[in-house]
Amino acid sequence: MSLARYKQKRNFGDTTEPTAGKPEKGKHVFVVQRHHATRLHYDFRLEVDGVLKSWAVPKGPSLDPADKRLAMQVEDHPYDYKDFEGTIPKGNYGAGTVYIWDKGTFELLRDDGKSFDKEALKEIQAGDLKVVLNGKKLKGEFALVKMKASDDNAWLLIKHRDKYVKEKYDSEDYTPERVKAQGLREKESGRKKKAQSPHPGR
Ligand code: MN
Repeated sequence: MSLARYKQKRNFGDTTEPTAGKPEKGKHVFVVQRHHATRLHYDFRLEVDGVLKSWAVPKGPSLDPADKRLAMQVEDHPYDYKDFEGTIPKGNYGAGTVYIWDKGTFELLRDDGKSFDKEALKEIQAGDLKVVLNGKKLKGEFALVKMKASDDNAWLLIKHRDKYVKEKYDSEDYTPERVKAQGLREKESGRKKKAQSPHPGR
């Protein structure tokens, strides 16, 4: 899998985001990163075929099957991104605060037990991916379904009905207050810097 698009968008002399990483055999990691960038969103990432398949979820994931969360597919991220947390400096792509909101392993709902990557890639290609998450916050079955009538990158993230359902779920309720406050502070200081400098650095 190519990380060309990922690398193209970033200046690694400036951001501390990772560039590589190699998954452990027989274990597939997922991570959800709360990303307080220009717009607050949650990045939902699943390791498939050695990279993190990634979707930006503006409203955050939900454990309520009534919520169909818009999930915009974005470029594949390197495996080591699963551990990335901290600040992407101003002027860089995705500048803002990243917080690991949830992490764990996942399985495919339909798995023949042999060719995980092949099956996962096939489902992504078909726009119908069904996974079972084993995180601290997100558990049980989820579907990622590509929207047909809209933008190519628009998917929906939907919780399946199982024992892990929590109705009226809001991911922000499960985010520590210090993390919310930090995101706002950094955004504010970025605004001030911009206002002071006639030539804001890139
Ligand atoms: Mn993001």
